[in-house]
Amino acid sequence: MTNFSLKNFIDGHYVNGDESRSFDVRYPATGEVIYRVEQAGEAMMLQAIKSAKQGFEKWSKTPAVERARILQKAARLLRERNDELAKYEVQDTGKPWQEAVEVDVQTGADSIEYFANLAPSMMGAQQPVGDDFFYTRHEPLGVCFGIGAWNYPIQIACWKSAAALAAGNAMIFKPSEETPRGAAKLAEIFTEAGVPDGVFNVVQGDAEVGRFLTAHPDIAKVSLTGEVGTGKKVMAAAAGTLKQVTMELGGKSPLIVFDDADVEEAVTGAMMANFYTQGEVCTNGTRVFVHESVYDRFMERLVERTRKNIVIGEPMDAKTNLGALISEKHQQLVLEYIEKGKQEGAKLVYGGNAVTPEGCENGYFVEPTIFADCHNDMTICREEIFGPVMSVMTFTDEDEVVRQANDTEYGLAAGVFTNDIRRAHRVIAQMQAGICWINAWGNSPAEMPVGGYKLSGIGRENGVETLKSYTQTKSVYVGMETLQGPF
Ligand code: NAD
Repeated sequence: MTNFSLKNFIDGHYVNGDESRSFDVRYPATGEVIYRVEQAGEAMMLQAIKSAKQGFEKWSKTPAVERARILQKAARLLRERNDELAKYEVQDTGKPWQEAVEVDVQTGADSIEYFANLAPSMMGAQQPVGDDFFYTRHEPLGVCFGIGAWNYPIQIACWKSAAALAAGNAMIFKPSEETPRGAAKLAEIFTEAGVPDGVFNVVQGDAEVGRFLTAHPDIAKVSLTGEVGTGKKVMAAAAGTLKQVTMELGGKSPLIVFDDADVEEAVTGAMMANFYTQGEVCTNGTRVFVHESVYDRFMERLVERTRKNIVIGEPMDAKTNLGALISEKHQQLVLEYIEKGKQEGAKLVYGGNAVTPEGCENGYFVEPTIFADCHNDMTICREEIFGPVMSVMTFTDEDEVVRQANDTEYGLAAGVFTNDIRRAHRVIAQMQAGICWINAWGNSPAEMPVGGYKLSGIGRENGVETLKSYTQTKSVYVGMETLQGPF
């Protein structure tokens, strides 16, 4: 692996900064430092704002079809470089190559392509009012600020910038300090595709950088993907200048398996909802409610398939399907939750330990972990763990399981497995969650709006409505008669 220093990307190129304020990025599978990153200081952030404002002047005046053509080229370049970019994602996050090569870059490119195709169709309205009339224009907001989490670095950078740029805004993006490379690579690609300098700047650093830009009066909107606690801080800071916010936050989502479900399919869903990306997915269905009459069969197959089919190993190995957690600190946190689960009386039926696959002796791996006999009030059922830890509960009554599923401060996702078509829609209609799946889990196409209810978020990403959330409506009233007044 290369040993280099990643710089801030401003105004179409990498900018030399203050190397004394650098931090390390480690490969989570080995703990090895793979590169260093220069933290943006105040002068650098002001430079990013100045350049973004200039970029916005140009980009917002570029016709939407032309913006679309450029963004489509960026999506093409992302796809052409899929394998190279996927490898960076594996090195930064520790997730399995087999996922990154199929999902991370592709779903990012999908969103850019989707919004590029949508942008030229965004139309205002016109309405007569007597002999006069008015019309509306959807104008971009200005310079938007995107803040990313570490679990899907390039996908998050793509999803945020796709809608923002398609609508004619400029964006300054701050990736997570744990995974800073994907956004920088995206900036290179946007520039190569023809996005004008300054329209997508990437600043590097931790919460300090996030705080400065969130509070800055020249930023029109902040879109965060992160924890609920961070969301509260960012929203409070944005309130100082009444910025618009989009908040994509955490969850503790329920997955309900009814007695008429295809049990094998439900097990597939539960494993996807807990072990994909080693459990570091915001929409994870970590509270699995299984109807008592299918519980024994469900647990038998779940444990059997977890034992047989989960391959923990060096993430770049194509056979590995469970990688390393992001950091040692996070690994310890996940292990503490597992300990708490045991102390509070949940029955550990599988996993529960740190592991060190061959060649990854210093990596941050945790076994896929399954708890049975859980109660909704246990810590492991209330707090987001963000690791491969599944909590299984039983139920008999539909109303009761709906009540328990909603008994959480979060509201990101929910799912049901059932073959009763009426029950499926009846139960989903009662779920207090923004992203719901019926006999499926995890699919999130660019066409589908995603976001949270309750503490899981505000606003949406992807889907038609998101494009408009990066615009403001201007109403223009046109008087056709000579203006009469009382003066
Ligand atoms: P985090 O909240 O610790 O950090 C997210 C980002 O916010 C980072 O870039 C961080 O540097 C920045 N940040 C931290 N404090 C800040 C502040 N005061 N002001 C401005 N920026 C600040 O989250 P994380 O650990 O990187 O990611 C995991 C979390 O993200 C989980 O809770 C997960 O559920 C959530 N997530 C949500 C979605 C979604 O779409 N809803 C998707 C992925 C991850």
